[in-house]
Amino acid sequence: MADISRRQFLAVTGTSLAGSSLALLGFAPSAALAEVRQFKLASATETRNTCPYCAVACGIVMYSLGDGAKNAKASIFHIEGDPDHPVNRGTLCPKGAGLLDFVHSPSRLVHPQYRAAGSAEWQPIAWDEALDRIAKLMKQDRDANFVAKTPEDLTVNRWLTTGMLAASASSNEVGYLTHKVIRSLGILSFDNQARV
Ligand code: SF4
Repeated sequence: MADISRRQFLAVTGTSLAGSSLALLGFAPSAALAEVRQFKLASATETRNTCPYCAVACGIVMYSLGDGAKNAKASIFHIEGDPDHPVNRGTLCPKGAGLLDFVHSPSRLVHPQYRAAGSAEWQPIAWDEALDRIAKLMKQDRDANFVAKTPEDLTVNRWLTTGMLAASASSNEVGYLTHKVIRSLGILSFDNQARV
């Protein structure tokens, strides 16, 4: 047996005893290390969404805390690729991997903005007000400028004074539906922003 002092003997046996006792209580270091990720996401609310940056439209899972109780404000604290999504199968490019900064950016727009004619100032307005205003102005413009027939009596049913720019975050299905709605109104100028 190797020579050890009384102090060394007590240190070794004390450490072993503490380690085995902790293991008996379920605090085995290997198990604790393996549980780190689960602890981080435990009790979080999972929300599935689509990365808004480009036309690849990767699926994401957003994790937020806050159960909706008074004074408990939901806040996203982690975002990762959705492993069940057929487009990206859990992966994200560097832009998508940085989405959390985008979500919490102080300069991020979270309300529609309205700038009155002749004004240099933008002001936030409610979604209902913005959508009502857009619908009203679209109808006014379509009523005034819709062309059903050309001077040669050729049926064209077109509306050339308004265009539509769709968002890059649209899935194929949303893009298809948007296209159908826009074309059914007679709009010909339609593009999809897929290049950011
Ligand atoms: S920016 Fe990256 S993560 Fe986002 S949809 Fe495009 S490829 Fe996917």
